[in-house]
Amino acid sequence: MAIRKIDELNIKDKRVFVRVDFNVPIEQGRVTEPHRIDSALPTIRLVLSSAKKVIIASHLGRPGGKKSAEWSLAPVRDYVEQALATPVTLAPDCIGAEVEALVREPHPKIILLENLRFHKEEEKNDLDFSRALASLADVYVNDAFGAAHRAHASTAGMASFFHEKAAGLLLFKELEYLGRILSSPERPFITILGGAKVSDKIGILQTLLSKVDALLIGGGMAYTFLKARGAGVGKSLVEEERLTLALEIAAQAEARGIPFLLPVDHVVADTAKKNPSTVEGDIPPDFLGLDIGPKTADQFSTEIRKARMALWNGPLGMFEVNEFSRGTISIAKTLAESRAISIVAGGDTVAAITKAGVEEKITHLSTGGGATLEFLEGRKLPGIQALET
Ligand code: AMP
Repeated sequence: MAIRKIDELNIKDKRVFVRVDFNVPIEQGRVTEPHRIDSALPTIRLVLSSAKKVIIASHLGRPGGKKSAEWSLAPVRDYVEQALATPVTLAPDCIGAEVEALVREPHPKIILLENLRFHKEEEKNDLDFSRALASLADVYVNDAFGAAHRAHASTAGMASFFHEKAAGLLLFKELEYLGRILSSPERPFITILGGAKVSDKIGILQTLLSKVDALLIGGGMAYTFLKARGAGVGKSLVEEERLTLALEIAAQAEARGIPFLLPVDHVVADTAKKNPSTVEGDIPPDFLGLDIGPKTADQFSTEIRKARMALWNGPLGMFEVNEFSRGTISIAKTLAESRAISIVAGGDTVAAITKAGVEEKITHLSTGGGATLEFLEGRKLPGIQALET
């Protein structure tokens, strides 16, 4: 079944509900990482250009089904208003009489509904709550790729009340890039995986093993693979219960004859994460690996330069700390300079790209973390299924 794209809908003079993922970091009342908001602005601008009313809805954090000032979308409203250079009204809630009155009046034109998760019914995909949300609009647009793996009222339930529904520009773009990885990647196609744990990446590892032309593994998850091979990993992050699986994955890569790269050197530190130094091969017993070393970065870079398509998920070290960010930053730069169609997914990895200052040179910065992983595992995402007509 197919899903429609927003530009196939007639939204002229309609009230359009746009579900976005504005679940962004906020500090002291200000949005600190606006990538997800910026990515949805083209859809909002498109709707704004011809619709009668733009009703924007998002969740923020985990307020646990209760209203709270801490999880208000007010800072998001401020950011969006500035970005669009148009007034944006924050509704006092996402359903109810006051909101209904706001959507009936010709003004304001853009309404941001208050945090959907102030109602526990949102995450329960409650039918009445879905109906109440749906009653606000004539057309439903989902642009919240980051929430598409959740069967919630605003991402799944409410869609069934609309005949006119479609994916926003961002959601459509995500599906195009990620879909291409699964169906027809440019070759050589490589995947770079990092981040803390193997267990979070098992599904994606298993799906992609049959598709990639090279697999590059760094970050905390590399130590489980290294230990499984008998290397000394000191006090590095290891998931003991995944050692067998790690061996199986490495064996599968070998059976396919594809390069399967693990770190050959490391930036290590003592258990207090102090006194960094670089070691080759085994990590001494009282140290932990917190970044890939320069030789590893060179080896990874060689593979990246050969690639025509590259997917990267998970930082290659504890990049939030400057001493342990060099490996991740250098790979971000190599990827940016490469000829590959580059797709970077996951909040931390996107943050690393931003830290490296190369976001303009990456083909696609995905706004999905969990959603991207689930999609690439080959799972059907409820938010996408709900748009099928
Ligand atoms: P993930 O959410 O699984 O992509 O993991 C991201 C987190 O992994 C980041 O906060 C990194 O600091 C952390 N990380 C990456 N490499 C290491 C490492 N070698 N040791 C400990 N944590 C790491």
